Amino acid sequence: MATQANVAGRGADGTPDSESDAKSSTVLIVGAGVVGCVTAIKLAQAKIDCTIIEKLNETSIAPRACGYFGAAQIFLNEIGMYKHIREKGFMTRGISWRGLPKDDGTGTFKQYGDLVAAQWLCDPNDYELPVGTGMLGLPQGSLNRLLVEKALETGYVHVDYGMKLSSVMENSKSTGVTALVEDVNTQSEIKYHARYCVGADGAHSALRRSLNIPFGGHTWPERILTTNVMIPNVVDPVYHSFFYMVDKFWGLASPLEEAILGKTTLWRYNFAVPADDTRSDEELLSDETILDLYETRMPGPRPLQVKIEARVLYKIHQRLVPTMRKGHCLLAGDAAHVCNPMGALGLNTGILDADALAEALIMVLKEDCSDKVLDLYSDERRQVFAFFVDPMSTQNKLRIQSNPPEVAPEQDSYFRLLNSNPTEEQMKELMKPYFETWRTAIRKVAKAAGL
Ligand SMILES: Cc1cc2nc3c(=O)[nH]c(=O)nc-3n(C[C@H](O)[C@H](O)[C@H](O)COP(=O)(O)OP(=O)(O)OC[C@H]3O[C@@H](n4cnc5c(N)ncnc54)[C@H](O)[C@@H]3O)c2cc1C
Repeated sequence: MATQANVAGRGADGTPDSESDAKSSTVLIVGAGVVGCVTAIKLAQAKIDCTIIEKLNETSIAPRACGYFGAAQIFLNEIGMYKHIREKGFMTRGISWRGLPKDDGTGTFKQYGDLVAAQWLCDPNDYELPVGTGMLGLPQGSLNRLLVEKALETGYVHVDYGMKLSSVMENSKSTGVTALVEDVNTQSEIKYHARYCVGADGAHSALRRSLNIPFGGHTWPERILTTNVMIPNVVDPVYHSFFYMVDKFWGLASPLEEAILGKTTLWRYNFAVPADDTRSDEELLSDETILDLYETRMPGPRPLQVKIEARVLYKIHQRLVPTMRKGHCLLAGDAAHVCNPMGALGLNTGILDADALAEALIMVLKEDCSDKVLDLYSDERRQVFAFFVDPMSTQNKLRIQSNPPEVAPEQDSYFRLLNSNPTEEQMKELMKPYFETWRTAIRKVAKAAGL
């Protein structure tokens, strides 16, 4: 698709670049993951042209996020994506916390583990639900493909696959950004030029490294063994997603498509491998290990009738950059912060970074706002991670792993509330931070700062 973005040697205003052989666009986005794509869609909707470079030859389908909620849903709706995700995806009915499944005495069936607490979310077939209700589900890889399609449809976004950022050569108000990019298929090097560059290139961000921005925090001792698996749905658990609360190999099971009773559907089972497990990655990823874990953590008929569709081992971290801005380069999503996946806060936080960042760039590029708004973007989104996402995701993890299910319902105030038949008002109050604290109203913040 020919757009302004792929006219070599020309800036967005049509003037020649200083580097006549450089590809040029107003905004260069590194990484065509979900965060890069939603940034591009919002910029494109404001008629700002973007080039996305992506080191892979197509978007990733690695088994990662699958649920979008709270303010992230509201933002996805604002950019016109909610209805498409709902069409392709599903709504999760509810979440529960449980002990391990128990044999029903016949030796041929394991019942769901004892319920510690549960949170009803919504009826999956209710199409009148207000946006922001419940957990909108679609595997991250499918969401990513949908977003690329929508970004390209705008006519303002160009995606260059197989292009890997190597380093940033220029980064200032006078020069804008010049990036050195490697074509991974030919190993040749190409320059890309833009007024601003957004690093949405994930936890190992090449942009962050090139800018020498540290990534402080810590790595958890456990690794997460993530599997996608086809399972026949034999019993109706009411609350589909469930955490298994146990000190080792704790984790989460959740549907990756609507888990219809009587049908075989795709599920995600995650297990936290303890640090003292000396088995090799190959052993951990073997059918034998995974089936052993399913045996103790998966309810349903025995022998198991499952088909493993995907498996991967991940390290998990809590990390945050000291700044999300350096000159004309900005970081968003996992490039700027990472958290453990319990509570689905990683990608959703990245989506909300994209919202605030694209809005700030629109203010600078289209409305002559001072570029100090980009500093505010960095400050505000760092605060959201440091004081909301980081502690919340940490507590979500600890709640599962070091909270014996026999005493947790009395000890844990969150569980006490869920078990007390809370009113709608109390549940609204509980969810309020996921609408208010989580999202940054950058225009309001800028106004308060006198910009
Ligand atoms: C097991 C697991 C489960 C998870 N579940 C959830 C969940 O339910 N909900 C949730 O919100 N989060 C979840 N997360 C976290 C979520 O997956 C991440 O937060 C999310 O992927 C971050 O998106 P991103 O676009 O910032 O980065 P990424 O998804 O990592 O995308 C970065 C993109 O940049 C590309 N790239 C990298 N380097 C370069 C380069 N040098 N040049 C060009 N391109 C480059 C990559 O190929 C990739 O396409 C989970 C994570 C894991 C590991």
